[in-house]
Amino acid sequence: MPAATSPERAKNGVTKLTGGRLVRGNELVNGDLWISSITGNILNGQEAFYEHHITPDVVIDLKGKILAPGFIDLQVNGGFGFDFSTVPDDMAEYRKGLNKLNRKLVRTGVTSYLPTLPSQKAEVYHKTLEYLGPSGAERNALQGAESLGAHCEGPFIAGTKCGIHSPLVLRTAPDGRSDIEACYGPENFSSQEDDTRSPITMITLAPELPGMMSVTPSLVARGIKVSLGHTEATYSQTTLALQAGATMLTHLFNAMQPLHHRDPGPFGTLGSTSSTISRPYFGIIADGIHLHRTTVNLAYNAHPSGFILVTDAMKTMGLPDGTYDWTNGDKWVKKGAVLTRQGTDTLAGSSATLVECASNFWAWSGASIPEVIRAVTAAPAEVLGLKDVKGTLDAGGDADLVALDVVERDDGTKRFEVDQVWKFGVKVYDVSDQVQ
Ligand SMILES: [Zn+2]
Repeated sequence: MPAATSPERAKNGVTKLTGGRLVRGNELVNGDLWISSITGNILNGQEAFYEHHITPDVVIDLKGKILAPGFIDLQVNGGFGFDFSTVPDDMAEYRKGLNKLNRKLVRTGVTSYLPTLPSQKAEVYHKTLEYLGPSGAERNALQGAESLGAHCEGPFIAGTKCGIHSPLVLRTAPDGRSDIEACYGPENFSSQEDDTRSPITMITLAPELPGMMSVTPSLVARGIKVSLGHTEATYSQTTLALQAGATMLTHLFNAMQPLHHRDPGPFGTLGSTSSTISRPYFGIIADGIHLHRTTVNLAYNAHPSGFILVTDAMKTMGLPDGTYDWTNGDKWVKKGAVLTRQGTDTLAGSSATLVECASNFWAWSGASIPEVIRAVTAAPAEVLGLKDVKGTLDAGGDADLVALDVVERDDGTKRFEVDQVWKFGVKVYDVSDQVQ
């Protein structure tokens, strides 16, 4: 029976997005997308219209803008002045800072992400991880960007490849699983028997350290993804770690052995034809500073479907340029996307947003728009095992969406600009509502 169309009819929470160019697989398709703010899902538009005779509450004309799944960032250390690793005396302050970050991050098009802790003392994990686990159970759009679980980057990493991680907190001679559980906190590891979910979704470790290769299968069995990084691993050690269940390389090229023609290192596994491993996914920081654009293209062309853009953003992401205090008493200087220790050239993560990284990659690579979008949506969803839930415009997936405008830069290249954002089917950002 057709739904009533009188103005008094009950609201059904359905929005129809029309006039957009939808990112579907490798194509940009003209069409409509139906979403529900009640379930938070993408609807099957044909079914809604022809079978259930649903009339949307709202129809939004996207006027030719690109409609993509919401972006997913697998490596975010902080942003908008908040740092996941800084523990205040009062954890209510931590909760407040986190909530604020989530509401601001979503406006950059990042609808879900992994809050990331670079190597810390055990007590930091014990205090913070309970706040950083998956946050989407309530499907509350007003909470902003959704945590898909914490990414613990270290401290089981190589002392010679620690970058800006404090060498004082590294655990370079670990004792396998017991040391891992003691470090992150036994309460943060679900047993395989119960169905409680660990707040940890990803661990970056160096597979050549004692016990790391053998602990990998039990981490994976608990639903934790293992990524390899800050490592001295050779090509064959990387291959063994992939056989053990690791599925990703953390910020490829940075803090690892480079390609050598006789030992191609971690990067070499992108070209592996071995039948015993799947070629890994890999994070790339396309902020224009960490990697030469040709290096980015080389990695992309070696293994396009594994390519994932990450920001590695620090708390200065989203803040104005200037000098900022760091936790260890240092001062750091932010200039655009670049963040360096004051008086040095030492890079400290990045201050770029994910849409800026996607725009850079687009300008450098000649990749198509759907190929660029895949690197911030479907590819990170796949590595997390969420490919039907996130990073897709298919019916049944979460209605986390970004409408993108294409803007021409002064030099003639084009970039993406976030125009509107939806979380769980609710519009949470519209650039035209912002006071300039
Ligand atoms: Zn790192």
